Amino acid sequence: MINGERTIARPLRWGMVGGGRTGQVGYKHRTGALRDGTYQLVAGAFDLDADRGRDFGTKLGVAEDRCYATYQELIAAETGRADGVDVVSVATPNFTHFEITKALLEAGIHVICEKPLFFTVKESEEIKALAEEKGLIVGVTYGFTGHPLVHQMAAMVKKGMLGDIRIVDMAYTHGFNAGDDVGAPEAVQWRTDPKRSGPTFVLGDIGTHLYYLSEIVLGDIKVEKLLCDRTAFIPSRAPLEDHATVLMHYDNGARGRLWVSSVDAGNMGSQRYRFVGSKASVAWSDSHPDQLIYQVQGEPERIMHHGMPYLEDESLAADRMGALHTEGLGDSWSNIYLWIAQAIDAKMRGDDAFLASHHYPDIHAGLEGVRWLENCVKSADQDAAWVDFE
Ligand code: NAD
Repeated sequence: MINGERTIARPLRWGMVGGGRTGQVGYKHRTGALRDGTYQLVAGAFDLDADRGRDFGTKLGVAEDRCYATYQELIAAETGRADGVDVVSVATPNFTHFEITKALLEAGIHVICEKPLFFTVKESEEIKALAEEKGLIVGVTYGFTGHPLVHQMAAMVKKGMLGDIRIVDMAYTHGFNAGDDVGAPEAVQWRTDPKRSGPTFVLGDIGTHLYYLSEIVLGDIKVEKLLCDRTAFIPSRAPLEDHATVLMHYDNGARGRLWVSSVDAGNMGSQRYRFVGSKASVAWSDSHPDQLIYQVQGEPERIMHHGMPYLEDESLAADRMGALHTEGLGDSWSNIYLWIAQAIDAKMRGDDAFLASHHYPDIHAGLEGVRWLENCVKSADQDAAWVDFE
């Protein structure tokens, strides 16, 4: 159980690029980071609007002279200080991730970056090599994958409690983009522009969450080939998609299907997962994150609650609130930030043994998300042909 006790040598000096006053995801980062005494927010280039960023930063408690107009200024000033930042989070639109992450790593600063990590596998491999060369960590914020019941599902699959995995069924859908984009906020404008969003819209925006979570649960079971059908119900979004269906074949023979949509009018269900084995199934959704539905063939359905002693150690180790009390998105983000802090701390101490067995959303997780997107686009571009996953 996590209780806020500090588990690393000293708090990390933390900065942010993006995540300003009007940004959608910035507060989730701060909710995640500023909880366990592992990070102190000391610097930021929070906003494209420098004055607004400075005003916002000082109201977060950052010294005015460490609220910078640009990430380049942040790097130049912070690397010149004895107490400069150890790690910076990148919470900006997709097209900026690569250049900002690269500049931070080149300056010797650990990075926590938003998903989808980059536009291409080639870029991701370049950053992976750079981080290795510099001895630095790159973490990726797949928001809900710190939840204890996600790790319960993974432990159950690993222990064989479901039998052989046969079916993977996932969806992440909402209807916030059911109408057109005329007058839509900036966060919608850049998401539907290939130059700023990258090769995908909803596949990268929400599909990568499904894919990474399923990777955690499935462990060694990997996608062998896939078929992706995507479309833009609002034509101005083409060639990007506001809706997509992906079928997957796994290397153990399992079959997967996934759909993502931002035109699922009226749906507030968000993320839903079902993993079906030869003996039993588990189902979990972030609209009822405290509950895991466990169905054994021929037996009454069970609802497992987070924090209960009957859960596996991996799940209880990630619990914060204890049973009866809601454990949700903010708690999950805190776990992700804690696990990344522990990785950075171990890297600073040269503790390779710890790093070898420590699980957190790392550069590999980010890279695999980009690889999955590249394969989806490759299939969709061939009119939804099956493609070998490469
Ligand atoms: P947004 O448009 O709402 O906010 C972007 C913020 O970054 C704004 O404050 C903007 O001023 C600032 N910004 C933009 N360019 C900048 C630059 N060069 N330097 C400094 N600041 C800059 O976007 P958003 O919805 O918050 O998304 C940001 C990223 O987070 C995207 O990659 C998105 O995919 C990701 N995201 C992830 C999750 C998650 O659950 N992990 C949720 C939402 C968004």
